[in-house]
Amino acid sequence: FRYIRLILGDQLNASHSWYQQDAEDSLYVMMELAQETDYVKHHRQKVLAFFAAMRNFARALQQKSFNVRYLRLDDKSNSGSLTQNLQAILNQYPNAQLQIQLPDEYRLDHQLRSWAGANDITIEWFDSEHFITRRDSLAKIFDDDQSLLMETFYRHMRRRLGLLMDGDKPVGGQWNFDGENRKKIPKKQSVPEPLLFANDVSDIDAMLEQQNVSMMGTVSARQFLWPTSRKQARQLLHYFCEHLLPHFGTYQDAMSLSSLHSSSWTLYHSRLSFALNCKMLSPLEVVTTAIDYWKASDDAIALNQVEGFVRQIIGWREYIRGIYWHFMPHYKNNNQLQHQRSLPHYFWDADTQMNCVKNCVQQSLDYAYAHHIQRLMITGNFALLAGIAPDQVDAWYLGIYIDAIEWVELPNTRGMSQYADGGVLATKPYVSSANYIDKMSHYCGDCYYSKSIKTGDKACPFNSLYWHFLSRHEQRFKSNHRMGMMYSLWHKKSQQEQSELLQQAEHYLDNIEQL
Ligand code: FAD
Ligand code: SF4
Repeated sequence: FRYIRLILGDQLNASHSWYQQDAEDSLYVMMELAQETDYVKHHRQKVLAFFAAMRNFARALQQKSFNVRYLRLDDKSNSGSLTQNLQAILNQYPNAQLQIQLPDEYRLDHQLRSWAGANDITIEWFDSEHFITRRDSLAKIFDDDQSLLMETFYRHMRRRLGLLMDGDKPVGGQWNFDGENRKKIPKKQSVPEPLLFANDVSDIDAMLEQQNVSMMGTVSARQFLWPTSRKQARQLLHYFCEHLLPHFGTYQDAMSLSSLHSSSWTLYHSRLSFALNCKMLSPLEVVTTAIDYWKASDDAIALNQVEGFVRQIIGWREYIRGIYWHFMPHYKNNNQLQHQRSLPHYFWDADTQMNCVKNCVQQSLDYAYAHHIQRLMITGNFALLAGIAPDQVDAWYLGIYIDAIEWVELPNTRGMSQYADGGVLATKPYVSSANYIDKMSHYCGDCYYSKSIKTGDKACPFNSLYWHFLSRHEQRFKSNHRMGMMYSLWHKKSQQEQSELLQQAEHYLDNIEQL
């Protein structure tokens, strides 16, 4: 072969120019790697989803007569290491040119470059042709403007792409409808059931068992619910646009219980993140499809629903990637709040009396999924209030979620959720007491703890931990204008009230494993 073309597990982009013409002189290489199953403890569904999607992708290429070398995890010739395997293939074809699409993870990028440098191997790099902004062009935008806010970036993207634009003005006269998108979901609201697939991945599951891969969470391997092919990913996209988009924005921050809504774990969310992150769907395809549905809906889909969705993808998703590539590798070591506590056991077994944490962790173990506000304002909020070490929080998020790849997980967790980057990503820490959780969810009604009690027996831990967080980080946050009101409320409390709250929080922190 003249070319060896590596396809990483999250590079399943069938529209890539590599596949647009015959490539008889190219060998396409895909590998299931122990280094990837083991770099963190993953959810079983996550490993299965990646391997199943990779196998389907390889099969589709073979059907189109591309030459594919697919190394299964249990293949005798598979060393488990990306670069060792590549080296073995290059030894077989010493005159071939190695071609690689730019990895999205720093870890892999670094591994490939170090290996190539040490072995005098030239890599020809290609764009993955997935993102709307190139990896390096984003770094340049951030170099020019260190304080670039997501909102500014998002408006720039809307203008550049001409999405939801009326000339140079935003459609509807507003860039952002967030104010309309913070509704609690009524108990009696009928929410559509999520579209679940019934893929049989039991052969891969058996292989993982046989290879002793250490994983967490549960799975129904004969009825695997995640999309594992482009066809299914597109079905999920259309299902979302037809059934869920009409209420997406309104309830994007809402949280519910399975006893009230059987689809509480997904509500009106798209669940497209896995398909997007392994590139079975392109972000532009996703947003233009949603906009087409909105246009064709004759006002049945309101502007705030579609704008909220478009913002997540062309705004947040691309912006997060920019942060990652601009600030790596140092970003990964950030711990500006000096948090050192260990993650309590209930993040792994959901055995806690805090109903909100219990529900969010349990659904994560069941489905390898939680929607954004559950990740941010329940598990993330609790970890931040309790002062958990960001390394441990990161490892948990990176392992448990179906869509977790470091370029998107790390800035969301360490930055947005844990404020460990000192405010690069979030202008204030995302912390709240039970008040917010009760406003947006139905968790508190069923809880052992009482949302309105701050000290004493049954006091909701979020309440005193909230004040403890503000008090212990006062030096850092007292001049943050977005937190001024909270500090003035804190200072209006009597000395006695303050000390009772702090004592209560200390008691909970000392007994964090028992909450
Ligand atoms: P929807 O609510 O339907 O949103 C549509 C799409 O918008 C998503 O599929 C996703 O591609 C994009 N999106 C929305 N918010 C974000 C965001 N903040 N950053 C990047 N893309 C976004 N997302 C991941 O893809 N991988 C992760 O590992 C990940 N880790 C997170 C960790 C924490 C602590 C937090 C707070 C958020 C994290 N997110 C992550 C962002 C977000 O929670 C998920 O993208 C979303 O929940 C996926 O579900 P969905 O596809 O149903 O999203
Ligand atoms: Fe969570 Fe507190 Fe509400 Fe219980 S009372 S569900 S612990 S916020």
